[in-house]
Amino acid sequence: MKIKSAEFVVSNQEVAKCPNNNIPEYAFIGRSNVGKSSLINMLTERKSLAKTSGRPGKTQLINHFIINNNWYLVDLPGYGYARVSKSTKKVFQKFITAYFEKRTQLVSAFVLVDIRHKPQPIDLEFMQWLGENTIPFSIIFTKADKLKPKAIDTHIEDYKTILLETWEEMPNHFVTSASKKIGREELLDYIESINNQLSQH
Ligand code: GDP
Repeated sequence: MKIKSAEFVVSNQEVAKCPNNNIPEYAFIGRSNVGKSSLINMLTERKSLAKTSGRPGKTQLINHFIINNNWYLVDLPGYGYARVSKSTKKVFQKFITAYFEKRTQLVSAFVLVDIRHKPQPIDLEFMQWLGENTIPFSIIFTKADKLKPKAIDTHIEDYKTILLETWEEMPNHFVTSASKKIGREELLDYIESINNQLSQH
């Protein structure tokens, strides 16, 4: 997919105020500092569409961007900083939960995880929660430039081992680097293929 246009639409904290139409949307979410803003900017080839390196605790908003006038890229707040807690409910702000539960326009979520780290409970819990709520998602491994190919494979295998304890198969996943522009085509083509399927119905 070629990115012809990428524009900010609206930020808000209430799902009810999100754009009220049937444009398909894809939500990007992950721990604070995972590289989400950098990835969004890399995908859209815009230097600062999403704000990078925001300090943890900055206003938590649901940000809608319209891409090529035909799909929404949704930048959700980072989770898992400061108030890390054993209770998932406390960690995932209520409105994020509400977003996933109520947003019928959501086609798929992308859960970002830093490829350098071992699988973290908070990310695994979140994926589990998405599964229980039948929300389709893919995993995006970020910062792949920081590891050698062999280490990348090992870290993905670690995820696979853990996820296969609860999932029948490894969720769809992408290996990316915002710095080196790795994974851009794959991710955009994936979104495009789903959009094409949707437009045929
Ligand atoms: P966010 O909080 O998830 O939006 O993360 P940011 O995009 O602000 O990135 C957090 C930090 O990770 C920043 O210092 C980025 O420069 C760095 N970073 C983000 N993506 C990459 C990447 O692909 N490779 C490397 N080496 N660093 C990255």
